Amino acid sequence: MDFNLPGDLRDMQATIRDFMVSRVEARAHEIEDTNRIPEELTREAAALGLFGLSIPEEYGGVGLGMLGRCAVYEAMGQGHMGFGGMISAHASIGTSGLVKLGTEAQKRKYLPRMATGECVAGFAITEPSSGSDAANIRTRAVKKGDVYVLNGTKHYISNAPIAGLLTVIAITDPAQGTRGMSAFLVEPQTTPGVTIGKIDEKMGQKGSLSSEVIFEDAEIPAENLLGPEHRGYREALGILTNGRVGIAARSTGAMQRLLDLSITHAKTREQFGQPIAEFQAVQFMLAEMEIAVQTSRVLWQKVAWMVDQGQDVRRLASVAKYHATEQLSEVADQAVQVAGGMGYMKDSPVERYYRDQRLLRIYEGTSEIQKLIIARDLLA
Ligand SMILES: Cc1cc2nc3c(=O)[nH]c(=O)nc-3n(C[C@H](O)[C@H](O)[C@H](O)COP(=O)(O)OP(=O)(O)OC[C@H]3O[C@@H](n4cnc5c(N)ncnc54)[C@H](O)[C@@H]3O)c2cc1C
Repeated sequence: MDFNLPGDLRDMQATIRDFMVSRVEARAHEIEDTNRIPEELTREAAALGLFGLSIPEEYGGVGLGMLGRCAVYEAMGQGHMGFGGMISAHASIGTSGLVKLGTEAQKRKYLPRMATGECVAGFAITEPSSGSDAANIRTRAVKKGDVYVLNGTKHYISNAPIAGLLTVIAITDPAQGTRGMSAFLVEPQTTPGVTIGKIDEKMGQKGSLSSEVIFEDAEIPAENLLGPEHRGYREALGILTNGRVGIAARSTGAMQRLLDLSITHAKTREQFGQPIAEFQAVQFMLAEMEIAVQTSRVLWQKVAWMVDQGQDVRRLASVAKYHATEQLSEVADQAVQVAGGMGYMKDSPVERYYRDQRLLRIYEGTSEIQKLIIARDLLA
């Protein structure tokens, strides 16, 4: 077994990490204050290919496999989690359905603009009455001639306030339950009957915007049906499964950054006449953080490799997401502890990570839902 990433991926990882820390993290306060990502950072991200990570080269993207994408996601976990959240909602759940299921005409229409970041993408399944219980969505799509008429409300949809394209899951045959749902490509900014709600006020991940998306007799051209009719739920689960591997990789990057910051602080902060790194209590926290980084990294690398081999990763994607996101919460807590009072101050990156990381145990399936998926698969 070779656990080294290929050289080109290592180089790309290093470039993205440098961008995240020296360019994005350097402007973290501005992003916190405005809840917006400065346009030049978005342009620089586009030039680095971040919007086209999962888009095949023939449509203008970088065309990375899952291992490559996750290597980049790990680098994006370092620096600023809101920025990483915006990019990954686009490159992961926002794009992968179209790449996998789209017709040639759909791909030609959207993917080139998505690869440049001109058209930001998102994915919408969650509704006010159905989060974990995604099989119970109510948004309805009724076919009338050459359009589907959509009615319903999605909420907490990442990137919705800036999206040029959303993959939306809606019911097309209520009698068939999860076998009666379909996926649609929706242009939220230009389709009459689609309203983007006010931007959610979140605990963290500033700059990564989410909101409600309301459909009131919104007519979606039938040609914007994505994949076979009535197969939307099944495909959505596939999109979310792969997304979980990316979240595990982002979490690993965030833990690495917190560990690096903690080591620097422990070596420079002196108490009782010596660096706090000399105290075994602090050393043990650093050691536990390193254990979390290493175990999470091995897991995402294995599962990403399995995806690229075409293997079924439903159980292991949940294992990787659960492990990395739960570990990240521990690591963020330890990083605040190592930093002491400074870790509780808004000036500190550690304080921001402490808030930002909390979301990762909730979206794309809560920790409890990951355990349900794992247990059901074990018992099947
Ligand atoms: C900032 C943000 C961005 C998001 N982005 C997107 C997006 O881009 N697209 C999208 O579609 N959705 C998105 N979501 C929605 C997200 O995926 C859901 O919030 C998540 O799946 C949980 O659903 P819920 O919030 O309704 O919580 P609930 O499902 O109400 O869960 C509440 C609690 O009950 C527990 N629970 C529920 N059912 C069970 C069970 N069977 N067994 C044990 N425990 C259970 C949960 O684990 C949790 O602890 C986003 C959410 C947030 C907060």
